[in-house]
Amino acid sequence: MDDCLFCKIVAGEIPSKTVYEDDLVKAFYDINPCAPVHFLVIPKTHIPSVNGINAENSAVVSHIFEVIARLAKEMKLDAGYRVVTNCGKAAGQTVQHLHFHVIAGRDLTLTMG
Ligand code: 5GP
Ligand code: ZN
Repeated sequence: MDDCLFCKIVAGEIPSKTVYEDDLVKAFYDINPCAPVHFLVIPKTHIPSVNGINAENSAVVSHIFEVIARLAKEMKLDAGYRVVTNCGKAAGQTVQHLHFHVIAGRDLTLTMG
């Protein structure tokens, strides 16, 4: 999608520090990390948010979670990690392309909003 920051990252038009990439998804480090480990996993196709997930495109979401589980193992995030997706303005979504934050490397407080 034109004018989408993460579509531009997928296209290589904006540089990113890649963690993992395949035909369907890309994982890259967050530019403004909130913990020692903070990367984002996104579908390569443009889905605006959780609200855009439907029967036609939802397979990529299960693939994203398979990738997260594999990366967590490889990165030895054995102490634990958090997966977060913000949907909509009030939730703090600032980039309108579905993304899952993976956060680890410190004790994470139990705030749910
Ligand atoms: P949201 O606030 O939408 O849940 O998360 C968007 C995330 O994208 C933020 O954590 C922000 O730091 C990250 N971000 C914004 N612009 C860029 C960028 O150009 N490159 C990378 N790697 N991350 C970005
Ligand atoms: Zn996009």
